[in-house]
Amino acid sequence: MIDMHVHLYPPEINADPAGWAARAGEPHWATLSTRRRKSGQPVQGFPSVEELLRAMDEAGVERSVLLGWYWERAENCRLQNRFYADCVYAHPDRISAFASVSPSAGEDAVLHELDWAREHGLCGVGELSPHSIGWACEDPILAAVLARAGDWGWPVNLHVTEPVSRDYPGKVETPLADFAQLAAAHPHTPLILAHWGGRLPLLLGGAAGADTAAYVEDGGAAVDFALPQNLYFDTAASPLIYGPDIWQKFVARVGAERVLFGSDYPLNLYPALSAEPDIARFAAELRERSGLTAEEICVISTDNARRLLGRL
Ligand SMILES: [Zn+2]
Repeated sequence: MIDMHVHLYPPEINADPAGWAARAGEPHWATLSTRRRKSGQPVQGFPSVEELLRAMDEAGVERSVLLGWYWERAENCRLQNRFYADCVYAHPDRISAFASVSPSAGEDAVLHELDWAREHGLCGVGELSPHSIGWACEDPILAAVLARAGDWGWPVNLHVTEPVSRDYPGKVETPLADFAQLAAAHPHTPLILAHWGGRLPLLLGGAAGADTAAYVEDGGAAVDFALPQNLYFDTAASPLIYGPDIWQKFVARVGAERVLFGSDYPLNLYPALSAEPDIARFAAELRERSGLTAEEICVISTDNARRLLGRL
């Protein structure tokens, strides 16, 4: 099994996340990552790479793909990328990692940072959230990043918010039509839309069932949408947003080839059931409660990731 959506942070961030974010100028990250639920429970942990490896062993995950963050400042992208290069170097058999980029440094610096990341063993870009950091989807720097990723065969992971969900602190609207446009503008770059892509294939056009109606009622724009070849969806944070019926519903719409298992560890996916983040419980949801066939489960949990990471 390969987990395509994991976040780790360097020890200096883990030691004092809120203090670091205040010093480093990352208020949005602090809002999302250091908040507590009404019960007082933290929404996520800050594990070391060793703790991640233990959680992977318990869940039967052979490889994790570490995703960067949509940092507002370029120097924080550099910090994250250097930490991830160390993780990949120390555990090449268990860990892959994607690079963080921020437009604040300018196009040359961004492309130079991507070169650095590639030379140091990283193999994709993201998690990016242009909407969260005020980066226009038409920005030429974003286009340059997506084009470079396409040249290298690198997947790019993009954060997508479920449009019809309740509000939570730090929630950012991410209009679904923007992702359809990015996919069309960069047909040679594999785009992985996180969190089931906010159910994009179920909401935009197509079957136009009850889901689309609720989306339009909520102010969403329904557009004609045919699924482009370069679009993939990960399952990160699924139990916090959807019931286990999402697996069959989504696969019936787009096919298992487009879905990638990703947990969003160390986010706690089952706050009512456990105090700690736990990949194993989510892996068990896919294996035992998704209603998918053994073949579909294998495609989602392993084959698609291998193909995208070039590890067949
Ligand atoms: Zn994430």
